[in-house]
Amino acid sequence: MLITSAVLFFLNLYAPLMIRRLTYSALQNAILDKAQLLVSAFSTNEELYSDSVAEMIQSVTGLHTDRVVVTDAGARCLYDSQDERSLDKLVLYPELAEALEGNDVVYIHYDTDQLVTKASMPIVAYNRTIGAVYLLERDPDQAALIGGLQRTIFWISVGLELLVILFSVLFSLLFSRRMGKLFVSVRKLHEGDYSVRLPEGGHDEVARLGVAFNELAQRLNQSEEVRKQFVSNASHELKTPLASIKLLTDSILQNDMDRDTMREFVSDVGDEADRLTRLSEKLLELTRLDTQPVEERELVAVAPVADRALRMLTPLARKQGIRLELDCPSGWGVLATADDLYQILFNLVENGIKYNTENGSVTVRTRVAGDSLILTVEDTGMGIPDQEKSQIFQRFYRVDKARSRKAGGSGLGLSIVQDMVTRNDGSITVTDRPQGGSCFRLSFPYYPMAEEEAL
Ligand code: ADP
Repeated sequence: MLITSAVLFFLNLYAPLMIRRLTYSALQNAILDKAQLLVSAFSTNEELYSDSVAEMIQSVTGLHTDRVVVTDAGARCLYDSQDERSLDKLVLYPELAEALEGNDVVYIHYDTDQLVTKASMPIVAYNRTIGAVYLLERDPDQAALIGGLQRTIFWISVGLELLVILFSVLFSLLFSRRMGKLFVSVRKLHEGDYSVRLPEGGHDEVARLGVAFNELAQRLNQSEEVRKQFVSNASHELKTPLASIKLLTDSILQNDMDRDTMREFVSDVGDEADRLTRLSEKLLELTRLDTQPVEERELVAVAPVADRALRMLTPLARKQGIRLELDCPSGWGVLATADDLYQILFNLVENGIKYNTENGSVTVRTRVAGDSLILTVEDTGMGIPDQEKSQIFQRFYRVDKARSRKAGGSGLGLSIVQDMVTRNDGSITVTDRPQGGSCFRLSFPYYPMAEEEAL
């Protein structure tokens, strides 16, 4: 608003000034030309007489002026086109006095709706000033034109300024209302109301800010839901073994029981405590994955890590009567942390054992396909129903809850596997084995390794 006001103000000052200057100089030049014309006509005479002056003026054509006065060198009037009574009288116009001193004079001023131009020039003959001419012109047309132009510029400026003010006020109101809404929504979000949304629409910056805000609120809402779900699942998982421990210890305290039964009860308490330990370890592992950045990754040989995981799980496999097989040539590596690769294989093989059938087997294989190293963990177990395949990677999800609990599972193993695979640039899928059982397929970018590196 301030800038347009300043521009319009200077336009109102400057434009009429320029027009006036141009008009004035045109009028002044015109009147001086006419005066010059007269002076040239008179300058052939040695002396001026009123009769000859009048005659000569009649003969000059194109002299359209409102008043012509000619005086002799003593400022005595020899001719006055407007007032014959002033003949022979002294003419005391300052312009004429100056002309008689040898100067050309031109003067213009604005007088109630008309422009008045006056010019005076000495008549010099044979190096002697023998008189002077005085011309006067009134021009109401030019004055009206300048006045009209000035008024037009003024009213256009007023109109423009009003428009600018109107638009500025409207725009400011609209903008501050939208920003106000955004501000209120940010406040609500800050106070924990993640359901708050801004109306979407439009393509300007505020609209884009609104879309970004809605996305942020939606994300916060989702992670809040996930957090609540996680806390409720975790507390449920912790409650179950704690309730069992409480029940077992109450029974021991309240009942007189023989030594063997008491031993059995105390061993059950120990099992529940183990379950709690495993659960808290997995919860800690998940928190670590969520909060800590990935450790420095290095080229890890797959075969030794897989071998170590299988060796660790051999006692469990023996207990369940499951055979473990490894088909993994040395010299193949992946870019990962050795701990992550070990934990991935451990969890998958452990599941293969836990959800297997009697005399079954778990096989770990590696092969190279294009740029990828494919790791498969196959078992001969019960398999996973198709509709549950996408859900088993969710935290606390179990297909067969009773069997998972009995096997000491928490529903967190596969979710840990998926987090670790993803952060090591890999992917994981699960399919059915044609002969029955499941096949977990991992794919990582492949790196060949030299013999000594692979050890
Ligand atoms: P859990 O600790 O219960 O084993 P996981 O996240 O490791 O948790 O596995 C989630 C669920 O997926 C398990 O409860 C089980 O029902 C199913 N599952 C996992 N691996 C297998 C498998 N190899 N065969 C059949 N079912 C499996």
